[in-house]
Amino acid sequence: MATDVQIAVRKIVSTNPATGETLREFECASEVEVHAAVIRAHAAQPAWAELGVRKRIAILRDFQTRLHLHKSEVAQLVAREAGKPYVEALLTEVLVVLDAARFLIDNAYRLLRDERIPHGNLAMKAKSGRLVREPYGVIGVISPWNYPFSIPATESLAALVAGNAVVVKPSEFTSLTAIALASLLHQAGVPQEIFQVIVGDGGTGATLINVAIDKLVFTGSVPTGKLIAQTAAARLLPVVLELGGKDPMLVLDDADIEIASRGAIWGAFINAGQACLSVERCYVHRSLYGPFLQACVRQTQQLRVGNGMDPETDIGPLIHQRQLRQVESQVEDARAKGARVLAGGKRLPEIGANYYAPTLLADVTHEMRIMREETFGPVLPVMPFDNDDEAVGFANASEYGLAASVWTRDRARGDSLARRIQAGTVMVNDVVSCFGISEAPHGGVKASGIGRSHGRVGLEEMVRIKYLDSDLLPGMEKIWWYGYGNAFQRQMEGLLDWQFASRLGQRLRGAVRAAGALKGKKPD
Ligand code: NAD
Repeated sequence: MATDVQIAVRKIVSTNPATGETLREFECASEVEVHAAVIRAHAAQPAWAELGVRKRIAILRDFQTRLHLHKSEVAQLVAREAGKPYVEALLTEVLVVLDAARFLIDNAYRLLRDERIPHGNLAMKAKSGRLVREPYGVIGVISPWNYPFSIPATESLAALVAGNAVVVKPSEFTSLTAIALASLLHQAGVPQEIFQVIVGDGGTGATLINVAIDKLVFTGSVPTGKLIAQTAAARLLPVVLELGGKDPMLVLDDADIEIASRGAIWGAFINAGQACLSVERCYVHRSLYGPFLQACVRQTQQLRVGNGMDPETDIGPLIHQRQLRQVESQVEDARAKGARVLAGGKRLPEIGANYYAPTLLADVTHEMRIMREETFGPVLPVMPFDNDDEAVGFANASEYGLAASVWTRDRARGDSLARRIQAGTVMVNDVVSCFGISEAPHGGVKASGIGRSHGRVGLEEMVRIKYLDSDLLPGMEKIWWYGYGNAFQRQMEGLLDWQFASRLGQRLRGAVRAAGALKGKKPD
């Protein structure tokens, strides 16, 4: 009797969060399709590596030109799929990627070149060492929806220029943007098999980790990051984990209130607060607390919430209802525990289902969820402190450690406080913008992740380091090979004395005893 085996196909929908309009429906890539993509990538990768860095850089330059040409289309697509204002998409997605390409075009050849490693071991002076940087093979990239273009693109460009093939599993909410990235790369000359996008949900991502990729670069939430780390550990898959944050902002007693409050408002509400680097906790010196809050209220009231495609919009919608409920429940928890809502604190259903008003909370405490859990929404909770030590203590009282900022008119004081804060990045007198500096490594400490993306350090994540040791006297037997005995022992003791004895006399005697060893001659 014939049986019908039905494999359930999971579907995902790309939706405009501003309007609820369905942009496109996709079927999640099946396990077989994910496997096939990685097998194709493996088969094509050696030729891509063989091409050489200079030729890959030329392809990157072509990609950069094409992206610049299509900047408006890409920014519009991001604005429609992720909801952010068009101008933010232009700056935080397109410009960031153009600049990341510029960094790699200018530096990848130099940074990926072999590097001589001089050494100081006298016994091995006839050896010359080099670091060789080799591509991993196939790098899996799993990315979130909040920066659907710049996150997968910056990570992939570094992986590609280093000679890897890349398989991207974008967020289920922003597949179209990832497909647009693939199209630009392919038009620029990256072979189809070398850069592939497999659309799907978390299950699709889980499949990608279990197939034969050689490294994974994951950007997303802490809970998913922990799951991934467990799976990766089982087969020692190297991972970079770029996870969530709860970034503190410290406004010191000598800060410029107007500038700092404007920075806080932008840093908390950019991308409707859905930025891993957004200001999630604001600590203000008690002497500035009142005026700072007043300035924040005034500025928040001027913000315009609406569809990101409208040039007059400052803040767009949240990505979906789940995100909105998370923000709402944290604000309600804070309100119930005594926080004062100075602005916002409510949904805006008259504009659309996913809108939440930019919200300013005063008198928050660390007992409230809003000061402990990642909010990822347009909320600025503000709390006073009495001195710098207390401010640093507050900043570090978090499981997260992605970024932080210190605001002061005294740069040296700012720098010194910055060194005491547990974070991957600390900015003095700015927020969020470090993501736009392609040379700057991006990543966190504590629960905010492992490893780095961007810049030289991010490029190093995309290569395996091989130490290549060449002997300059190939015809000579090595002194440390067999032929042990009393005389050899004395010679070796002399070698150690020569290099490490504290008294000069002992060192000289050691040098005499070791002389034969340096000539590579064993004592008779
Ligand atoms: P998420 O963890 O829900 O999802 C991220 C990606 O992982 C998505 O593509 C998702 O489909 C996939 N995924 C989900 N479950 C998986 C599993 N079990 N195995 C493999 N893949 C799985 O995160 P999100 O909601 O898309 O993004 C928001 C989070 O990302 C926030 O916490 C934010 O702080 C963080 N983030 C961090 C950075 C950074 O650079 N540190 C940047 C942007 C966003």
